[in-house]
Amino acid sequence: MPEEYVKFDLTDMKNFEYDMKRCVRCKGCKWVDHIYMPGATYSTRCPSEKRYLFDSFSAWGRLRLALSLLNGRIEFNDRFVEAIYKCQLCGACDAGCKRNLDLEIGSALESLRIKCVADGFGPMPEHKAIAEKIEKEHNVFGGPADNRDKWAKGIQTDDKAEFVYFVGCYGSYKMQGIPKATANILKATGQSFKIMGSDEYCCGYPLYSTGQIEKAKKAAQHNIDTIAKSGAKTVITACAECYKTLKVDYPKMFNKSTSDMGYQVIHLVEFVADQMEKGTIKFKNNIDMRVTYHDACNLARMSEPWVYWEGKRKLYGITEPTAPRRKGTHGVYHQPRNILKAIPGIDYVDMIRIRENAWCCGAGGGVAEAFPEFAQWSAEERLEEVDEVGAAALITACPRCKDNFSKAINASGDNIKVMDIAEMINEAIK
Ligand code: SF4
Ligand code: SF4
Repeated sequence: MPEEYVKFDLTDMKNFEYDMKRCVRCKGCKWVDHIYMPGATYSTRCPSEKRYLFDSFSAWGRLRLALSLLNGRIEFNDRFVEAIYKCQLCGACDAGCKRNLDLEIGSALESLRIKCVADGFGPMPEHKAIAEKIEKEHNVFGGPADNRDKWAKGIQTDDKAEFVYFVGCYGSYKMQGIPKATANILKATGQSFKIMGSDEYCCGYPLYSTGQIEKAKKAAQHNIDTIAKSGAKTVITACAECYKTLKVDYPKMFNKSTSDMGYQVIHLVEFVADQMEKGTIKFKNNIDMRVTYHDACNLARMSEPWVYWEGKRKLYGITEPTAPRRKGTHGVYHQPRNILKAIPGIDYVDMIRIRENAWCCGAGGGVAEAFPEFAQWSAEERLEEVDEVGAAALITACPRCKDNFSKAINASGDNIKVMDIAEMINEAIK
């Protein structure tokens, strides 16, 4: 292979041609790490491949399709576009593949979506409808932009604070219990914070993840400017999707690194775990319950900082300078578990597929919007795992996961309780 110059720039699929070509179809992106696999039942990691049972609905199949597209052997059509979007972009394939090979599977899949939109074939109609709502009212529900901070009525914020709390669309419009709990927790530790109110726009995840990068960049630039104007150096969020978007996708969109953004992003669980170490938070109330924790993809294997890279790829794929790899091993894993284990009365149990191997809730990548039946099927698969370990409650650190699991529970009549970790912490301290 001749030497080539490549970049981690997702707007040109050619940058990931090597990754597409070097896929050896070993199916590491399909299987859970063998050392964690207790048997056949919970052995797979890709919802799309398991649900649709065709190669074109797996990571390796999509890579083949993308390569054929790049080489002019096929063109976009409805079935191809459907295969592209029936995928949660959950990152399980990327982490699975990187156990053996340094291939950028997740970025290749994102790049394929960006090309699909640029060529006028994507996204799905439901994604376009959400983009219109974001354009008009800056949130995914289309609710009035001025109502964004209605949840905060009566809550004291501080315009001079160094922390800005990025609430997100779900917290602001649909699940106000989560921001209220978050505000209580911050207050209980003495941490002052400000909010951006109607100046906070949708983080842009629904745009970026569906390949609508130009629209996503507009939302991102607005939020980046607003954060900069606020003078805050730390952005705290209780939403895994907002967390990953601000920390990873914003730099990715602008070909920068996370460390260049001028702010750091922390999730509430990182803040609380830190406060526990400092002794500034006390769990007073007993919560007698057997609980398990769901690793939201965007707070787990997808949350490692983004490092922009460009350079040479030489013989055997050797990169110069060495390309940084995000393998998913440094996600936010121990903090939520340590918090739950420290709450008196809680009997904590892990599920079988955890950390990098966790099964996606099913909502991500625009699937909940365009293919709700697939999103529910994925959530039900996870709920079976909750039953398997005998937990009465499933705790998440992402409103999107909570929303999707709640819908699946309502549809199935299962009696598992689903709670956000902010609500659980708030119950324990108030
Ligand atoms: S994407 Fe990676 S893990 Fe999956 S088949 Fe290809 S080389 Fe193997
Ligand atoms: S991102 Fe998730 S759903 Fe999509 S191919 Fe990879 S493992 Fe499957």
